[in-house]
Amino acid sequence: MDIEASSRKWALKNRKDHGTAQAGALIGKVIGEVPDAKKDVAGLKAVLEKIAAEVNALSAEAVDAELSAFTFEAPKSEREGLPPLNIERVITRVAPNPSGFLHIGHAKNLILCDEYAKRYKGQLSLRLEDTDPKTKKPLPDAYTAIPEDAKWLGCIISRIVVQSERISIYYEHAEKLIQAGHAYVCSCIPEKLQKNRSDGVACGCRDQTPVQALREWKSMLLTTKEGKAVLRIKTDMSHPNASMRDWPAMRIVEEAHPRVGTIYRVWPLYNFAAAVDDHLMGITFVLRGKEHELNADKQQYIYDYFGWKAPLTLEYGLLHIEGAMAHKSDIIRGIKEGLYSGWDDVRLPTLRALRKRGLQPEALRRYMISLGVKPTDSTLDWDILYRNNRELLASAPHFYFVEEPVALDVKGLDAHVAAHGPQSKTLVLPLYPGAPDDQKRHLLVSSALLIAKKDAEENAGKVVRLKDLVNIDLSSNAVSPNQDHKGVQKIQWVSATGAVAVKVVREDGSEHVGRAEAGVGELKIGTVVQFERYGYARYDHDEKDGTKLFYYAHP
Ligand SMILES: [Zn+2]
Repeated sequence: MDIEASSRKWALKNRKDHGTAQAGALIGKVIGEVPDAKKDVAGLKAVLEKIAAEVNALSAEAVDAELSAFTFEAPKSEREGLPPLNIERVITRVAPNPSGFLHIGHAKNLILCDEYAKRYKGQLSLRLEDTDPKTKKPLPDAYTAIPEDAKWLGCIISRIVVQSERISIYYEHAEKLIQAGHAYVCSCIPEKLQKNRSDGVACGCRDQTPVQALREWKSMLLTTKEGKAVLRIKTDMSHPNASMRDWPAMRIVEEAHPRVGTIYRVWPLYNFAAAVDDHLMGITFVLRGKEHELNADKQQYIYDYFGWKAPLTLEYGLLHIEGAMAHKSDIIRGIKEGLYSGWDDVRLPTLRALRKRGLQPEALRRYMISLGVKPTDSTLDWDILYRNNRELLASAPHFYFVEEPVALDVKGLDAHVAAHGPQSKTLVLPLYPGAPDDQKRHLLVSSALLIAKKDAEENAGKVVRLKDLVNIDLSSNAVSPNQDHKGVQKIQWVSATGAVAVKVVREDGSEHVGRAEAGVGELKIGTVVQFERYGYARYDHDEKDGTKLFYYAHP
């Protein structure tokens, strides 16, 4: 490509992206593409000014037409994480079931859909799929918790749709399919229905005329007993995959629904409701886990019968979560049995629990984008997530916390401080490494100190360095004549005077009790701190006796 052609290409793109092409903004782009242009920057500027003026005089249509001849590589960060979509506007949705709160497994879909919606100036809807009042019984609190948690993740939700409020819409579409001969009511007993499907045998019900089917359907809505009939979509009874054969769209559930009670007794199944909703909500793009691959094929029948255009669909690999309880049913049981304090119990991988521990939503976002839309499965790597979090918490305040404190009366500390140490009895340190001058910690220095029991035991009889202060000999509890830092274990310490009682609840639910330096008493609720040589923790509340309660995040 020569300088003129490259200049025109970038001027067109600049005009498209920003409304006006500006010559000065294009110099680097052209040099990047045609390195020779660097030899005469003044000449390049003149060319760009002429071309920018030409391009700015074009109509928007003419710009689009000319631009279509060029391809533009996405910036590196986008290429790595999320593949570009050949689509103008992304109208997408996330569709959790409100039978529980969101956990880290949901975060992948939420974040990736939100990223696509933002990158393609689109919209993200939240659809609460609550049409199974029996086996996936909706949880009233989840209807408010899910949008809150999505917001915490940084997702911009433009619309919330609740399926149990749309039942008449599904009925209407079911009737249209029945009338067109694409659906029928099967009254075979469940065992026979299953066997027929696996054997590829069509039952007599399939021969119903639309009039007969409609009559059976009305009976389903009024009187037919649960388990005695289902509405099935005609597909292909010899389809190589048995689950595709005349799949059920509607069934009777005579259980009260927490939101709509017993108004409805016929409930749509997942694929039917999802296809109808995706179309009616104008969804252009669906991003889902590859466990839903077959569902897309099932839903295609609905699109075909109604003559609708199916959304663009991308599937990605599963995100496995090891060592953490991620099954909703296990969590529900655990909460019911009192094993967990609630959905935000720190032992759970729910978003509520991660938030309570001090995980930053941006850490989750970076991680999920790095996983991207690859078809291969992956296992959640907590270390990467924690590393992201530490990067984001680079200015978290640092404090000393001593677990299970033991008293240490340091002989000669006052004299040492007077001779070599801080000018006063206060040691001033930056609030975090690199903190500006107005952000300091003030530590009272006195001979009555507290150190962690574990440090005292592990270093018994040795010389240790009280961090940022002085070396002491633990065999005599005296200031050591050797003040060399090298090879000396550094330990954190707290002055007994003014020490703050702290309890840290660990991610396994166990508790660490100790004392922290006085500055901890000034913290605002919700602050994430780094307890040096201990780890990151989030200040949650004060207990009745004044103890400051923290939840541990990670090392
Ligand atoms: Zn049948």
